[in-house]
Amino acid sequence: MNHKALNTVRPEPVTPPCNKKIYNTEEEAQDMIRFIKEHRRTRELYAYKCPVCGLWHLTSKKK
Ligand SMILES: [Zn+2]
Repeated sequence: MNHKALNTVRPEPVTPPCNKKIYNTEEEAQDMIRFIKEHRRTRELYAYKCPVCGLWHLTSKKK
């Protein structure tokens, strides 16, 4: 029997941007945190640099 390696060519997927809202800079993210806190009672929010897209997101979880 022939043992063929599966050679399916997968098209390079379009890099999925994160589902989260993206901020270009930490300042932008911090600004948004301030804005959110002014308008609603919310948990602590933190800005973090995403290792996937290299941009900033907000999270309510502390690492
Ligand atoms: Zn991201």
